[in-house]
Amino acid sequence: MTVPQQRLVKTSIPGPRSVELHARKASAVASGVGTMLPVYVERAGGGIVVDVDGNQLIDFGSGIAVVSVGNAAPRVVAAVQQQVAEFTHTCFMITPYEGYIAVAEKLNELTPGDHEKRSALFNSGAEAVENAIKIARVHTGRQAVVAFDHAYHGRTNLTMALTAKNMPYKNGFGPFASEIYRVPMAYPYRWPTGPERCAEEAFGEFVELVHTQVGEQNTAAVIIEPIQGEGGFVVPAPGFLARVASWCAEHGIVFIADEIQTGFCRTGDWFACEYEDVVPDLVTAAKGIAGGLPLAAVTGRAEMMDSVHVGGLGGTYGGNPVACAAALAAIETMRADDLCGAARRIESVMLPRLAALANKYDVIGDVRGRGAMLAVELVVPGTKDPDPALTATLSAACHQQGLITLTAGTFGNVLRFLPPLVIDDTLLNEGLDILDAAFAASA
Ligand SMILES: *Cc1c(COP(=O)(O)O)cnc(C)c1O
Repeated sequence: MTVPQQRLVKTSIPGPRSVELHARKASAVASGVGTMLPVYVERAGGGIVVDVDGNQLIDFGSGIAVVSVGNAAPRVVAAVQQQVAEFTHTCFMITPYEGYIAVAEKLNELTPGDHEKRSALFNSGAEAVENAIKIARVHTGRQAVVAFDHAYHGRTNLTMALTAKNMPYKNGFGPFASEIYRVPMAYPYRWPTGPERCAEEAFGEFVELVHTQVGEQNTAAVIIEPIQGEGGFVVPAPGFLARVASWCAEHGIVFIADEIQTGFCRTGDWFACEYEDVVPDLVTAAKGIAGGLPLAAVTGRAEMMDSVHVGGLGGTYGGNPVACAAALAAIETMRADDLCGAARRIESVMLPRLAALANKYDVIGDVRGRGAMLAVELVVPGTKDPDPALTATLSAACHQQGLITLTAGTFGNVLRFLPPLVIDDTLLNEGLDILDAAFAASA
């Protein structure tokens, strides 16, 4: 690896060159495009991001769960370099190429279930979600779509409607797409009667709301993240996903697992649904699929995927050849280097240390997640009142020490950790030391 796997903080964060670039950003880039940590990147690899001032930051974010194989991963770089020199675009809908088919074959093989499947490729997660809904509507001849509290499915018009959180994702951007209905999430930490009853009661409310307010016969699809991402890494109470999936099957409703953040080894399996033996009808994938190149997919039951008329699915860039080459190389890396095992190893290092932090600092109300998708939820001690201000303070303190951390959650009170799956244990532990020190100083 050409990027040294060491933290190094040489200047203030952000350093002078980053500050200069950030001033240029302010006069050139629309201010609605926010930046969480304005250190400008020069290089990145493994668990380190190098900025333009020569600082080397530990990466606990992976560009939001994207570079699971590491930044500029060697196989991805080689595959992209070769493809980009051969041809960069023909449009698969005009004159096709093998790479697209090979990615579809991999998706059909790796997603849960051994039924016959088909895949279609797109550019972004939101676009994949939109297309999953289009397919479900054509297949069922129904319109309504059910989504959950704390859900995040993207920023396009239909996916904003599916996303739960107003600020910053929806505020002022309406009107939103119609025929979207929202039901409670089985959120164990915040379930009013406690975590033990969460799965059963949340399922009961789900069934009743869909029955009374929507009608099963009008419902095309139920879409759910098997572990919620932007909503705060909410792991649904055990059994909830399976009950919802089998209820959907009973009523001819398409069960869509949005695995855009959880997929491709992130939670210790290829897809998070596997952990509970849930087999979705349709799966959306993106983020971790292609080592940082933009690619997204819908994979699902052949009879559902093939219900759409020829020409009904597609897009100019969908399944771009360079992105497909990157995906094949990223998938090969995950398989050859056992990155699902790496995610479980990361959990075995991080989870006990996060649990120890929770014992030490009573601002930590909940520790949760799976694999290399872990989080702590911060509250006012002795209550479950969210503490977003402390969350922001802690995250900023980590940034100052050269640790990239992200926040999440409907209430802005979740610190989430998404290290690249190739990070070494030394960096992982050093990052956790920084986190511990930040708690000691602020909590
Ligand atoms: C990020 C994300 C999306 C949207 O993906 P984009 O590529 O940003 O459009 C959708 N669903 C989930 C669960 C996500 O984490």
